[in-house]
Amino acid sequence: MGDHYGEQSATEAGSGAHGSGCREALDVLYHYLDGELDEERRAVIHYHLERCSPCLEAFDFEAELKLVVAQRCRESVPESLRDRVAAAIAQASVAPSGDPTNRA
Ligand SMILES: [Zn+2]
Repeated sequence: MGDHYGEQSATEAGSGAHGSGCREALDVLYHYLDGELDEERRAVIHYHLERCSPCLEAFDFEAELKLVVAQRCRESVPESLRDRVAAAIAQASVAPSGDPTNRA
């Protein structure tokens, strides 16, 4: 496929710039959002995000997503919406092989 695997060593010389820490940062991002990291680990992530915008963007997106989901779960969901979601889920998991033109 691509030549992604060869790029890693090229950025290693940087002093904290975008490069070696990114993979690890994104890796622990999910644990960070779940509150599973200790303070030291969080500080490392914060430090990385402060100087690496690609990772920061990824973090922002995930954080926002989690926030929205959390808020949505806390709010009382209108029954009509709940029905539609339930129906959509049922349809998605039951539908044999997809028949988008066949709507009820
Ligand atoms: Zn990064």
